[in-house]
Amino acid sequence: MARCEQGYLCAVCGQDVGDITESELYLRYVLGEVAFESLDRLPERHIRCNPTLAQFIVAEGFAPIVVEGPFAKAHLDPAFVAVEEQRVTQGYLRLLELSTANRPIAEYPLPNAGAVRPFDTMSRDV
Ligand SMILES: [Zn+2]
Repeated sequence: MARCEQGYLCAVCGQDVGDITESELYLRYVLGEVAFESLDRLPERHIRCNPTLAQFIVAEGFAPIVVEGPFAKAHLDPAFVAVEEQRVTQGYLRLLELSTANRPIAEYPLPNAGAVRPFDTMSRDV
């Protein structure tokens, strides 16, 4: 994330979003849901402060998030959940990779971002 600037506060809890691996905005950016031009205009949030998205992250080191209510995984179509878990988890792993890599922000999005097709075997040529 833009280390030269300070003060990216979470719009939900008000705490500093200190690391790209905690950033819901950047997660959605690498997934192709947020345009580059929008990065500095949209509110920053912790991934965990958006549980309906965060519940799809299934990764070692990421404590699973359980959502209650109509948007809980338990109430969603299992096929949709499987696709979302693969997609969002891949985005999260991308953030982990980016947190140690030195890439231009324009190269952050996944190669297949925005072109996710259900049950595709995703290529790993990052
Ligand atoms: Zn927060």
